[in-house]
Amino acid sequence: MTVEAQTHAFQADTKRLLHLMVHSLYTDKEIFLRELISNASDALDKMRIEALRQPELSKDGEPLEIRIDTDPQARTLSIHDNGIGMSRDEVVSHIGTIAKSGTRELMEKLKDNSDGDSATELIGQFGVGFYSAFMVASKVSVITRRAGEDTATRWESTGEGEYTLEDTQRDAYGTTVTLDLLPADSEGGIEDFTDQWVLSRTVKRYSDFVTFPIILKVVREEVEKDEQGQPKPEGKTSTVVEDKTLNSMKPIWTRSDVTDEEYAEFYKHISHDWSDPMKTLRFHAEGQIEYQTLLFIPSQAQSDLHYHSSEFGLQLYVRRVLIMERCEELLPRYLRFIKGIVDSADLPLNISRQRLQEDRYINQIRKWITRKVLETLEKMQRNDAEQYLKFWEPFGNALKEGVADADYKEKILGLLLFSSSQDPTNLTTLEAYVQRMKPDQKEIFYITGESRSVVEHSPHLEAFKAKDYEVLYLVSPVDEFLVQYVFEFQDKQLKSVGKGAVDLGDESEQKETTDKLHTLQEQYKDVFALLKEQLDDHIKDVRLTNRLTSSPVCLVGAENDYSPQLERLLQKGGGPKQKRIMELNPDHAIVTKLKERFEKDPTDTLLSDYAELLLGYGLLAEGSPIPNPVRYNQVLADLMTRTL
Ligand code: ADP
Repeated sequence: MTVEAQTHAFQADTKRLLHLMVHSLYTDKEIFLRELISNASDALDKMRIEALRQPELSKDGEPLEIRIDTDPQARTLSIHDNGIGMSRDEVVSHIGTIAKSGTRELMEKLKDNSDGDSATELIGQFGVGFYSAFMVASKVSVITRRAGEDTATRWESTGEGEYTLEDTQRDAYGTTVTLDLLPADSEGGIEDFTDQWVLSRTVKRYSDFVTFPIILKVVREEVEKDEQGQPKPEGKTSTVVEDKTLNSMKPIWTRSDVTDEEYAEFYKHISHDWSDPMKTLRFHAEGQIEYQTLLFIPSQAQSDLHYHSSEFGLQLYVRRVLIMERCEELLPRYLRFIKGIVDSADLPLNISRQRLQEDRYINQIRKWITRKVLETLEKMQRNDAEQYLKFWEPFGNALKEGVADADYKEKILGLLLFSSSQDPTNLTTLEAYVQRMKPDQKEIFYITGESRSVVEHSPHLEAFKAKDYEVLYLVSPVDEFLVQYVFEFQDKQLKSVGKGAVDLGDESEQKETTDKLHTLQEQYKDVFALLKEQLDDHIKDVRLTNRLTSSPVCLVGAENDYSPQLERLLQKGGGPKQKRIMELNPDHAIVTKLKERFEKDPTDTLLSDYAELLLGYGLLAEGSPIPNPVRYNQVLADLMTRTL
């Protein structure tokens, strides 16, 4: 039965990405081989793991391996593996589309900076290694047969918008990728990838540690020799075919002489990132349980780090054999950016997911790894502030989630960085903040909000600025979560400047202001009752404050209320609406004149307009939307008409 090949179009994003890859990556074209070998090695791992459960999948004693062969005349290069293979549907979804979260953003970024280096980094984050074959090939074909299936699929493309698919046959399970190579071009970085020396060197350089043999088929002509070992006079040659294993297969974490380059290549292999790691951490633990770990902090965040669906985990080996590709139990979620491996001598090879989750040793390993990573970060923070900032930028927000981990909360608090009113450009630790606290200051003050530029003009800060008290700006979404878990640091309470009453200055100062506000508040009692009635939908109380120096009004929460940002987030999920407290500045002319007007005529209809305007003022000043902008504008326009 022959089925005609069907032509399919690449998804628009895939097509554009392909074009960019081929045209903007001008360095290191040889990495295509690393990517294809990496895919083959992953497929072999999957095969081995699946065969543990379904022994019928593996042919008796057939070793799992990667084979490379070339045809210098036809200028083709093929990479074969007897791994898990792909079904027809898998070929379409894995090779015809890029269905990763964040692809849109990648395309946008690539448009902005199409120079080679940053394109390499960006593409690396998305794990689209297979397409790198088009950097060196005019046509790529894949013949693949999924383990357990009878038919195979042939995929072929010239990388220009279309690919063909057809059913075909393949003797064994696995995948063959064949490249029609572009002419070697030393200036363009394309070497002769049919040359055994070029291939040996490239494999050694990028894929030496791959745990399956990478075997090159070497074909050479040899002059025939006589019995004495002398070349025969007629100069006859014969063809000799040899298998040459190109990689040492030695797990990198068992070797003592590993170079930085080798670590970097291993990192790229397991992470599918194209950039070097920021830091390599290698530990060996002995004692109750013996295991080795090799961990990496990447130099940039993977594209889906902050998506709920982001996958993470470490590779788990048992006595050098990979048993799980992504073991989440080995890392807390807030360290999900860490890549690496754990090799344990004490676990059973066929450990189940269930058992992993409950396993006491796995738990211990996770805690130990967590501590080691946090200690490494502490050291980096102390000794190399510049590098720590480079770490903090992509990963700080993930690390902040760790304040919910009771075991390591203190350590994590020490690692956090915040922007603050003290310094517009640099970030501060909590410790440095505490050291700068004024002698009479008892609490650590913070404000939450959407961005630095919104919060730094907030009226809530006025009294703190006047007192020269520093306020932390908690302006990333995860900070709202953070303040639900962190109440104090070094015995100093954390306090939102937008909640509750403010107690500034020493005790006698505080008493003086409270007494003064109390007396004044009495005089404002009636006008406040009116304001409260007018704004009943939004306001639960009206009171005087010492929080403001130049603004007339601000809105605050009670001590246990949500912040406006958190409330907005919760409301998106159908949460309740909270009423706020309106605070007025008794030293502001608007406030004193409002009282005078009320005292002259408590039934003055304009008073309700002023109430509306005060509410709008308070909301806009803190960066919140106003409930009825049309009505707000109307009131403002009426007021202007009257006064102009
Ligand atoms: P990545 O490997 O980073 O996920 P690729 O573009 O290199 O991205 O590959 C996409 C997917 O195609 C892989 O995740 C894998 O599922 C599948 N794939 C690629 N090569 C092979 C192979 N040799 N055998 C089986 N599946 C493969």
